[in-house]
Amino acid sequence: METVLVTGGAGFIGSHLCEHLLAEGYRVICMDNLSTGTIDNIDHLRDENFRFIKQDVTEYLYIKEPVDYVLHFASPASPIDYMRMPIQTLKVGSLGTHKALGLAKEKNAVFLLASTSEVYGDPHIHPQSEDYWGNVNPIGPRGVYDEAKRFAEAITMAYHRYHKLRTRIARIFNTYGPRMRLNDGRVIPNFVHQAFNGEPLTVYGDGSQTRSFCFISDLVEGIVRLMHTDYAEPINLGNDHELSIIELANKIIELCGIRTEIVFKELPQDDPKTRRPEISRAKKILGWSPKVSLEEGLRRTIDWFKNKSSLSTSYREKGV
Ligand code: UDP
Repeated sequence: METVLVTGGAGFIGSHLCEHLLAEGYRVICMDNLSTGTIDNIDHLRDENFRFIKQDVTEYLYIKEPVDYVLHFASPASPIDYMRMPIQTLKVGSLGTHKALGLAKEKNAVFLLASTSEVYGDPHIHPQSEDYWGNVNPIGPRGVYDEAKRFAEAITMAYHRYHKLRTRIARIFNTYGPRMRLNDGRVIPNFVHQAFNGEPLTVYGDGSQTRSFCFISDLVEGIVRLMHTDYAEPINLGNDHELSIIELANKIIELCGIRTEIVFKELPQDDPKTRRPEISRAKKILGWSPKVSLEEGLRRTIDWFKNKSSLSTSYREKGV
């Protein structure tokens, strides 16, 4: 039986990964400092092959048993979270990645880095392919996340080249689904929360900026395939169906079946104007492409939010 360590395993993506890997027959060690992840996300994973360690990954990591894979997913990932915790974000991307790589080297494990489409910044090339170097403002508010992840990629490649570590880099584009925090500030939970509370949906700027949203189950499938390749260069993982934020707002209003309005708020600084992954590398190397349509994924996400016990009472009162 192989063992996988997932840093950030109590977070949105990390917890889905832990669940999937357990079901596939791995032993899973989930490490998280619970700064943005929650025990709620992993509470159902009570299993003799599952272990939770509450630890900040920027501190020295000691694991007694053999580890076959280190999947490094620890980091705040929502703009409001990384702006609220700028130093921690920089530390986990730099010092945390260094520690996780050190552990992988010690254990002779495969190391997989959760990188991000933010390495492309506010891109001048559209769609974004892996050979684009990006357009990042290092001193802007997003710089703390973008530059930390760019450093993380650089040190991962250095361990690969210098120590011959088996490394993988996933550049993850906007992902959504059950277990996102309603208050995490990202656009889909924000809009769903607002719609169910009868509040106007807050579109930043004029809503013409675009994103491409990947459902969580598709992303997890891509990550697991990447674990099993021997490909060290970065691979984009995301859905290439692109839409504007105003289109997304209207879609969510329609799917929630609620009448509400849209209000326009100031566009945050350095908010990327367009984003769509070029996924031919993932198709070729991993034989992977996303399967869940936006409509289907949004329905599942909305249902999950609707069923969340803390909110179900207020939804019932509103007749949702
Ligand atoms: N956004 C918005 N209203 C919100 C939250 C976000 O219009 O209530 C916009 C945001 O400005 C960005 C897009 O939606 O253009 C996606 O934002 P998110 O925070 O989900 O992630 P990003 O892709 O910017 O990292």
